[in-house]
Amino acid sequence: MTLAMDKSSIEQAVQELIRAIGEDSGREGLLKTPRRVAESYEALFSGYSKKPEDVLTVFDGENYDQMIVAKNIEFYSTCEHHMLSFFGKAHIGYIPNTKIIGLSKLPRVVEIFSRRLQNQERLTSQIANALEKLLDAKGVGVVLEAQHLCMMARGVEKQSSTVTTSAQLGLFKKNDKTRSEFLQLIGK
Ligand code: ZN
Repeated sequence: MTLAMDKSSIEQAVQELIRAIGEDSGREGLLKTPRRVAESYEALFSGYSKKPEDVLTVFDGENYDQMIVAKNIEFYSTCEHHMLSFFGKAHIGYIPNTKIIGLSKLPRVVEIFSRRLQNQERLTSQIANALEKLLDAKGVGVVLEAQHLCMMARGVEKQSSTVTTSAQLGLFKKNDKTRSEFLQLIGK
């Protein structure tokens, strides 16, 4: 999916928003705010213009058939319900079939899906599904732990509450031992 971001429309909308809040969009501190928001959106929503297959280079796994785990991958996303940030850590494990990827590529995959309007459940399964498909892996496990500004800032729940989501595919789903090994490796 490739969407061209319309920065000037974003600027106009933010200016309207500032006025609708009841603020003076002409006061000095707010003058450049629409431009800054539009620019920050370019980063926050950069995931729409990228596909995981473009960043993932796969290697021959040389018969390595054990679990590969990367934990504590930082991510920042934006909740689609309130357009406020949610952020935290992603933990990913997979058991290769014939292909592996450089571990540095896993954060790239997380970033492509997190830099969109998201909910945490979909983000979790999109990461898992993409890895399963691109690697033709025997199993994939993804656990996301995040704090949501929409909960924290509005005081809906305890300030410190963390939301955990999990997607387990293939052997991680079928085999309790595999899943336990993964959870143990990521310290859960
Ligand atoms: Zn929200």
